[in-house]
Amino acid sequence: MTAAEICSWCGTAVEADDGYRAYEQPGERRAVFCRLEHVVPWVLGDAHWEAGSPISEPPGLEAEHTCSQCGERLGDVRVVLVHHRGEGRITDAFCSVDHLEAWAKAGGRWQ
Ligand SMILES: [Zn+2]
Ligand SMILES: [Zn+2]
Repeated sequence: MTAAEICSWCGTAVEADDGYRAYEQPGERRAVFCRLEHVVPWVLGDAHWEAGSPISEPPGLEAEHTCSQCGERLGDVRVVLVHHRGEGRITDAFCSVDHLEAWAKAGGRWQ
């Protein structure tokens, strides 16, 4: 039994098999979101990261070479977003939090 995580934007409890996790890589910073829509105000509100190592080790991370928003090749620093859906982990990577925000605003993978 793990303690529920809290959405970095609204403070709602987020179950381990639900919601979104964002990580800045390399680094020890993370954020948690109860829903994709809350990424947008979080970025616009100065993207306050929490210190800490990734809660979920995003699978297939090495495979993420391009930004899901602009398609540009990722540099040394990237932002990773992991969608937790039950046992499933869906990973997207971005060149910056700005592109994470643009992608989330457009509805993510369902745009
Ligand atoms: Zn929230
Ligand atoms: Zn980009």
